[in-house]
Amino acid sequence: MMKKAVVTALLAALGMTGTNAFAADTELNIYSARHYQTDEALYANFTKQTGIKINRIEAKEDELLERVRNEGANSPADVFITVDASRLAKADELGIFAPVKSATLEARIPAHLRTDNWFSYSTRARIVVYNPELVKAEQVQTYEQLADPALKGKVCTRSGSHPYNLSLGAALIQHDGAEQTEKWASGVVANFARAPKGGDTDQIKAVAAGECGVAIANSYYLARLMNSDKKDDQAVVAKIKAVWPNQQSWGTHINVSGAGMLKHAPHKEAAVKFLEYLASDEAQAYFANGNNEWPVVAGVKVDNPALEKLGSFKADTLPIGDLAKTVADAQKIYDRAGYR
Ligand code: FE
Repeated sequence: MMKKAVVTALLAALGMTGTNAFAADTELNIYSARHYQTDEALYANFTKQTGIKINRIEAKEDELLERVRNEGANSPADVFITVDASRLAKADELGIFAPVKSATLEARIPAHLRTDNWFSYSTRARIVVYNPELVKAEQVQTYEQLADPALKGKVCTRSGSHPYNLSLGAALIQHDGAEQTEKWASGVVANFARAPKGGDTDQIKAVAAGECGVAIANSYYLARLMNSDKKDDQAVVAKIKAVWPNQQSWGTHINVSGAGMLKHAPHKEAAVKFLEYLASDEAQAYFANGNNEWPVVAGVKVDNPALEKLGSFKADTLPIGDLAKTVADAQKIYDRAGYR
């Protein structure tokens, strides 16, 4: 009982709990590195359905991981949510997750989008966006083509050390080999229109402005612009075209948002309930409609004009849990290529 008292005091000090942390789960503590406003509705709906109150700590990925590790066995965190497979894998490597065995999750989430310890709930594609006044469609149909000298001075991306680009590099290594990927990275760097800066939306806008001929961006950034009723955003969309890269080969690289239950979760029952809730039709629709991502569960009805307009594509089927195996190699390759 001593331990319980100490832990309860700690939890209270953290403002993470009421008095019932150890009774039947009436609360759930979520550490989230997702930063999308629409996630609010996701949480509120879970509480409405289950009566389980959600306490949420939002911070940057590394801060949350640091926090979980420092808290150790006393951590109040039940569920960790973040975006990008490489980040989820990193969390997993740190040993913070507990395995979750759930028939519901196994039935609803495709095998290549889950691991024993964490689950994907939405996918986003790393697409190519180009300015048809500056490059031809046939020049930018694959990631590999972005290294083609014909695109010299035309390519823009965000930083090579950003997880989105590292995950792409990790996929390239697994499909094309390390040697080819290193040549690719050097070729892309040689083709830069400018040194990497800004986020994916900035790349799309720079393509529209003609500063870059072609760029890489996550699909939801484009979908957000497409769904925007701001004149400026519509003007950007009108200037550019989007490509699903690698349709004739291994498919467009996708990444995920995901979550896992923490090893020391004080509310394990509620945590599993929440993980299962995220795979429900309703929660899946929130991901699609709120943040312009695709549901991982097949057949979920989506009501999103931009996603509808973008249509369907052939996605890479590489197991998402395997991407992390080559992320460190991708980083080394990028470093040598000067892809900062
Ligand atoms: Fe993002």
